[in-house]
Amino acid sequence: EYAENTHGFVGADLESLAKESAMHALRRIRPQLDLESDEIDADVLNSIQVTENDFKEAMKGIEPSALREVFVEVPDVTWNDVGGLNDTKERLRETIQWPLEYPEVFDQLDMQAAKGVLMYGPPGTGKTLLAKAVANESESNFISIKGPELLNKFVGESEKGVREVFSKARENAPTIVFFDEIDSIATERGGNTSDSGVGERVVSQLLTELDGLESLEDVVVIATTNRPDLIDSALLRPGRLDRHVHVPVPDEEGRRKILEVHTREKPLADDVDLDAIARKTEGYVGADLEAVAREASMNASREFIASVPREEVGESVGNVRVTMEHFEDALGEVNPSVTPETRERYAEIEKQFQRSE
Ligand code: ADP
Repeated sequence: EYAENTHGFVGADLESLAKESAMHALRRIRPQLDLESDEIDADVLNSIQVTENDFKEAMKGIEPSALREVFVEVPDVTWNDVGGLNDTKERLRETIQWPLEYPEVFDQLDMQAAKGVLMYGPPGTGKTLLAKAVANESESNFISIKGPELLNKFVGESEKGVREVFSKARENAPTIVFFDEIDSIATERGGNTSDSGVGERVVSQLLTELDGLESLEDVVVIATTNRPDLIDSALLRPGRLDRHVHVPVPDEEGRRKILEVHTREKPLADDVDLDAIARKTEGYVGADLEAVAREASMNASREFIASVPREEVGESVGNVRVTMEHFEDALGEVNPSVTPETRERYAEIEKQFQRSE
């Protein structure tokens, strides 16, 4: 029965529940204890029992961490950490940053600040990064919720989870609320086979919250998806997630910019040719290129550690370089996440979505 009534409790919460119940039992018995004496009466000791009521009382005081964990953070990502995507950045600056930064201009020109933005594009293209950058650059707080998490972590409490998120957002405004992988909850009604109407209830709660937001409240929702075509169209109506921002697979120039971001702090050998790497990495998204840079450094460290005696590491470490060969090897280890076929599929989905906008 307790197991049934403790949806959303993690191990630590259950441990606290057990301890708190014991505390309640102890408090109950306390008047019978002679605290002055060194020994406690054995009969009293044996009569201590944790009762159902102790458990119930303890339950009242414990909130599952799933609900407590609506984290408000201030990201430290800046526009400079996002390689390429100039058009996308510009759109986000205009739609989100400006209304928060220059409300009087929007007011004077009678422009409605956006309440919600849908960012769409394949995984690993930098959507999360962009959302964090826009929060940081507009000096806003950031609350991040993953769609699947909303369903799993807040089991049976998903709508309450949504309400909680928005109330935290308002409390901490200006706030950017980031719903990652929104398609996992908000696909066109009936299209979702994996749940028993939870998705629908969460979507209605989300609609209620969006409709209830005054644009003055300085709470902006950013939702992401790689399947914009599947999103419940009610969510995309005016006044809701009505600004749509495409985050594309990077082209050669974009890849070059992303490589720059991920190598700017690294000691590169003179032979490293980022243009050449950008040329060879068709289908690699930002996350793949980050992995390439990471692997290349790993290769460099492996080689260095194997070639230098431990006691000389300190004096030689200044000479360690990541070479073109390290990058070449890394390219052999990291595969592009967008193949020509998936790329075409995304292009088709995106075209269809843009037509229906
Ligand atoms: P998405 O949210 O689109 O799935 P993320 O923003 O989570 O992708 O990207 C994952 C990681 O990949 C980022 O933390 C970053 O290191 C790297 N990355 C992705 N896109 C870019 C980009 N345009 N510029 C720099 N790094 C990027």
